[in-house]
Amino acid sequence: MSIFIYNTLARRKQEFSSLETPQVKMYVCGMTVQDRPHIGHMRAYVVSDILKRWFTYRGFNVKHIQNFTDIDDKIIKRANSLNMDYRVIAEKNIEEFMISSDLIRIKRADFYPRATNHIQEIIELVSILIDKKYAYVTDTGVYFDISKFEGYGKLSGKHIEGLKEGARVEIDETKHSPIDFVLWKLAKEGEPFWESPWGRGRPGWHIECSAMSMKHLGETIDIHTGGEDLIFPHHENEIAQSEAITGKPLSNFWVHNGLLQLLGDKMSKSTGQFIPALDVLKAYEPDAVRLFFLSSHYRHPQEYTEERLKESEEALARIKVCIEMLTEKTKGTDRQSDKKNLPDILVSFWKDFEESMDDDFNTPKAIGRIYSFIKEININIGDIDDKTAFLYEEALTSSLKILGIELEEKELGSFTPVLLDLILEVRNKLRDFNKYDLADKIRENLLNLGITIKDTPKGSKWNI
Ligand SMILES: [Zn+2]
Repeated sequence: MSIFIYNTLARRKQEFSSLETPQVKMYVCGMTVQDRPHIGHMRAYVVSDILKRWFTYRGFNVKHIQNFTDIDDKIIKRANSLNMDYRVIAEKNIEEFMISSDLIRIKRADFYPRATNHIQEIIELVSILIDKKYAYVTDTGVYFDISKFEGYGKLSGKHIEGLKEGARVEIDETKHSPIDFVLWKLAKEGEPFWESPWGRGRPGWHIECSAMSMKHLGETIDIHTGGEDLIFPHHENEIAQSEAITGKPLSNFWVHNGLLQLLGDKMSKSTGQFIPALDVLKAYEPDAVRLFFLSSHYRHPQEYTEERLKESEEALARIKVCIEMLTEKTKGTDRQSDKKNLPDILVSFWKDFEESMDDDFNTPKAIGRIYSFIKEININIGDIDDKTAFLYEEALTSSLKILGIELEEKELGSFTPVLLDLILEVRNKLRDFNKYDLADKIRENLLNLGITIKDTPKGSKWNI
């Protein structure tokens, strides 16, 4: 058994081997939390989730770290425009991210470090870069001198000369070169800041990931993932900083996903062209949204359309019908599986499924194999005996589970509709008495539990 992965750094598929078998150290570039998570984010994190699930299936123990960038120019701008504390905005969006991520069954990371909790580590790395002459200090901050790092461009294939020609007219004239990037940015009046040897300021975006990856996973890791829009400059700069410090590779494998598109353009907060993840996950079955993502290869861009989501819901319904049919047949049997003597049809199913996943996580092919298996079952359902029906059912549910499709309805849990109505009634009373802070607190706490409240002119409504 070997897993082959397309490595952006090598520009080809390579056989995976980990630094310390059976462990995989994986760093996932997380969200910058200036706004609500959109459905394009979920595609990216379903991809890293698939890697994690497949490595786990193949016997690896995955150490998964995923950061939150909770301070940067965009968050400050957003906070100023809303007249809110940047920390409140970050916290709200992180909460919504976790709810969305749980809904679509992305397995939780071992740890979600935040940039603002790693200022000391960042300052230490910047100091080393200055000592080693890879960085210099100016009146506006500390910058990385790209010309000092020999391997610059090895991930993205960009050349320094070409970048210089393409660089726009530089606003900050203190930099030695327009393509040098910021490691520590001095704060302007009214901006949040931390003390540092170079003055009050905040970290640059790229150095955060270098610091968090190094602290939680060590100097060299197995896999670093992110959207393909992060290859340059973010990941190129992470490599330059980390490798200038340690002299060792930052990551052996670099895995990048194609972006989710809306009307032919990248879904992104910067263009304002995006659909919030939670809206989609409430309107469609989360399993169907996941099935939609997995029906396209992770390295390709994927177009978001409601039609495709509806098709995925229909496909999911067909899968469920087949499984129910098999379950029905096995009622009354002892439901024992004999995995040593699998019928040929199952041996061939698992062989194809595993081969697809081992070949750069080819989920469309793996799902295609599940569909063809279902087709075979549907044609022969009358001739399938009880014991075989159970084996088929087990193969379907476990292969789907490996892909994170668990086919269980989200349950109300201990929250009965009557109880929720009662909570809403109390909240409405609080609002009548202008106790908005308490009313908001109730809404926030319910949101943490995956329950949203919508205030409409006709009253408040809850939704799960
Ligand atoms: Zn990053």
